[in-house]
Amino acid sequence: MRCTHGHQYTTAYHESGHVVVAHHFAAMLIGVNIRMMEAQRGETIYSLTGDQPPEERIAIILSGPIAQARVAANINAVSDRIDASRLALQDRTKPEAYVLLAKATQLAAKPLDARWSDVVNIAEILFRQKQLNGLQLAALLGDTDAAEILEDQQHYRRRKKAPR
Ligand SMILES: [Zn+2]
Repeated sequence: MRCTHGHQYTTAYHESGHVVVAHHFAAMLIGVNIRMMEAQRGETIYSLTGDQPPEERIAIILSGPIAQARVAANINAVSDRIDASRLALQDRTKPEAYVLLAKATQLAAKPLDARWSDVVNIAEILFRQKQLNGLQLAALLGDTDAAEILEDQQHYRRRKKAPR
């Protein structure tokens, strides 16, 4: 799955929101970036395993705009809202879709509240580095195995660079 949309510093918060909530619902994080400078866009790439309930899939889509709205007055994340509405309307009436969207909004807000410090941390690093891969995200989200692998990689890289 992929999300694209607009704005600069707050885009990092938007993508970070997707990251934290996707992680909360057990998605495998593949990567995140805010590299599309001309269009001022970012994207979060993740894959969901198994039968994810629709409210969780929609919560992940809505988490970007929700996180971004916490740090920005005007946000431009229309595509996420359209994607969420389309997903909500599948096999449902409009009133049912509205109920599902409201439920998904609450589902997204909970992990954003609980792990807001992670949202901030990942957003700030993403803003500086412009992209993070899945392993880096896992480490930032507290996966100690991922952190260890990263550390080994950095050691290896430093050794390769060191003059003999
Ligand atoms: Zn988004």
